[in-house]
Amino acid sequence: MTPGIRPLVAGNWKMNGLKSALGELEIMRDASKPGNKPNHDMLVCVPFTLLAQAAEMASRSSFNIGAQDCHKNISGAHTGDISVEMIADCGAEAVIVGHSERRTDHGETNIEVLGKANAALDWGHMAIICIGESESQRKSGETLNVLKAQMDGSIPDSPANGEIVVAYEPIWAIGTGLTPTVQDISEAHNFMRNELVDRFGEAGKSIRLLYGGSVKPANAKELMGIDNVDGALVGGASLKAVDFLGICEAYQ
Ligand code: PEP
Repeated sequence: MTPGIRPLVAGNWKMNGLKSALGELEIMRDASKPGNKPNHDMLVCVPFTLLAQAAEMASRSSFNIGAQDCHKNISGAHTGDISVEMIADCGAEAVIVGHSERRTDHGETNIEVLGKANAALDWGHMAIICIGESESQRKSGETLNVLKAQMDGSIPDSPANGEIVVAYEPIWAIGTGLTPTVQDISEAHNFMRNELVDRFGEAGKSIRLLYGGSVKPANAKELMGIDNVDGALVGGASLKAVDFLGICEAYQ
């Protein structure tokens, strides 16, 4: 954790979840009600198809809903794409950009991720910008160079009206049950913090840095204890309320 930073536990449902899954969100929302008020922010990024219903369910609570991608333009001839204005129109407040699955499946480059992040921040959304090395990059000792290039290339110069959040997600740890050592996460997050302070000065000290990659209730407390880890981006374990809330308990 970073002193003075309110942690964020964010879920990423990826391409999972039908209308019947909204019951899980309802349980998560109820856990965030006043009275149970957690010491951290909670967000779940659902598929576009559930965005409006999920946001309606979460309204008037401190539980937030986000999307998993956006286009860099506000409207136009971009078949199948979704703009930040549409996301806001659904009532959602955050967008994940540059997830490694999009960088891999759709060939998204840093410059494209930057465009999406700028669009989200200009609209006033929280932009969760994902970075992380592949297994071969880690094995060849390139991790910090990869993180630097991704940070330089895909993090905007200013948060505009929104909030920049950076998520470190080693690609080889996503969905595999593998996690880096505490020392490796600490090295990456301290490096990211220093980069942000070099670039943004004092403001860089309060940008939230999430760790993502096989976060589970069983390892959440240990991960949360690492300096400069200000929360988690959770994939598989965010699909079930019992697991997601089990992770949230580490932040109480
Ligand atoms: C993710 O995809 O952002 C992620 C961290 O997945 P998982 O928690 O399943 O490893």
